Amino acid sequence: MSVFKPARRWQPAFYPFKKEKFSSRLLARIELAVKGPVFGCRMCGNCLLQETAFICPMECPKGLRNGPCGGVTREGNCYIDETRKCIWHAIYSKAKKKGREELLLEVLPPLDWNKTGTETWGDVIRQIRVTGTARFVKSLFSKDKKHKKEVWDSVFKTIRQPGWWNGDSRYHAPSYSEPASLLEKRLKAGEFVVATEVTPPLSAKSAKLIREIELVKPWVTAINFTDSSSANPKMSSMAGCKVAHDLDAEAVLQITARDTSRTGLQSMVTGCGQFGVKNILCITGDSPKAGPSPRGSMNFVDLDSVQMLWILRRMRDEGIYLDGRKIKYPPMFFLGAATSPMVQDPELQAIRDHKKVNSGAQFLQTNLIFEPDRLESWLEQMDKRNILDKVFILAGVTPLKSYKIAKFLHEKVPGVFLPDNVLKRMENAGDGEAEEGLTISLEIIDSLKNKKGINGIHLMTLGWEEIVKRIVTESGLNPPSSLRE
Ligand code: SF4
Repeated sequence: MSVFKPARRWQPAFYPFKKEKFSSRLLARIELAVKGPVFGCRMCGNCLLQETAFICPMECPKGLRNGPCGGVTREGNCYIDETRKCIWHAIYSKAKKKGREELLLEVLPPLDWNKTGTETWGDVIRQIRVTGTARFVKSLFSKDKKHKKEVWDSVFKTIRQPGWWNGDSRYHAPSYSEPASLLEKRLKAGEFVVATEVTPPLSAKSAKLIREIELVKPWVTAINFTDSSSANPKMSSMAGCKVAHDLDAEAVLQITARDTSRTGLQSMVTGCGQFGVKNILCITGDSPKAGPSPRGSMNFVDLDSVQMLWILRRMRDEGIYLDGRKIKYPPMFFLGAATSPMVQDPELQAIRDHKKVNSGAQFLQTNLIFEPDRLESWLEQMDKRNILDKVFILAGVTPLKSYKIAKFLHEKVPGVFLPDNVLKRMENAGDGEAEEGLTISLEIIDSLKNKKGINGIHLMTLGWEEIVKRIVTESGLNPPSSLRE
């Protein structure tokens, strides 16, 4: 926030990894003394304030540097600490008020850990000198917005966008033409696609996993394997993909920012083709707050999902690692991301999704949809941004097996809201609650089928895999005979 806020979320500052010169240490102390109370600065050493409406994004409990996660509550609060506003919600709202929301499209880099805890003011002063002190001071009073932006970018963009990152606000079309996967092929062919997800088991035996894959395989195009959902350790998503590949099923590898470092991410995807992985979904991941105790770090400061997309797209299309080394034979995959179109102002959500598409997302999987009509305003915003023809959207649908599950989703799962009429129908259904849940999902699918911009559905069955066959056949989606090739 740009004013002193005693109730703000104070977080410990970072400390440098090596002993700096006395003058740098002194400057860092002064910077923290000023920016701490005013912005809640943690001395990340890679300042983004210019881009984030002068609200420090490091106040986000997950440490996200490119926008909010999907867990913002309807009131715009953070789901990790519901007593506080989502800091990214505040950044978007302030940027919108000032007419600067397009600035939020720029893909911002992860921390350079060599710089954490060190001052950034020294860099700013050095860069002002390079630009020309008189020119910079003059620009402060200039009414020519273009000139002002040019001068400010020559100072601040140079600092926030180091050469190894080069983030921008543009769309980068994939560099290949032949589909990387069956999922991409079918979406490009205009099929209304059905995907689903299977949660890998808690144990090391794959018998249950195999049974579940066999159950859904004939009815869907692709199967996501969740990556320790709700921050509960389980068999890995990669293991799920390998088992699916061996069974001739198309897999989607989920990678959460929560459990991923930049080194781990790059080595994992370089080798993922060896396990038959052709689709990758980059997500932020649930906070360890949702998982068992003792809890791991709630800060996901090494990477966020937008940064993961940017790194993977560049590895595939430009054949480079984050550090700039060339990849002789780059990995190939169809890239996806998640979105929560129902949680916040659709206009703000569309900015976040636009950024994901620019970073590399070729398909988006939405959070659970229970009010298909409310999706319209988000789709309109996406359309206004001209991105509906650049990304395929799979709408998330869950068949409710019981009233208990419906209540649990509504009350406990971040970013999921069930309208009163759905909760009432489930409550009143008594012994027929599973059938009522199926009827509700068929009605939702029916209204999603013909919506402009929706290219398929993503069934999240929550362990009710047997229902996939009935949903696909009773909703009149692709007949099974056309599903396998
Ligand atoms: S972005 Fe980093 S340097 Fe800038 S105010 Fe926030 S923590 Fe401090």
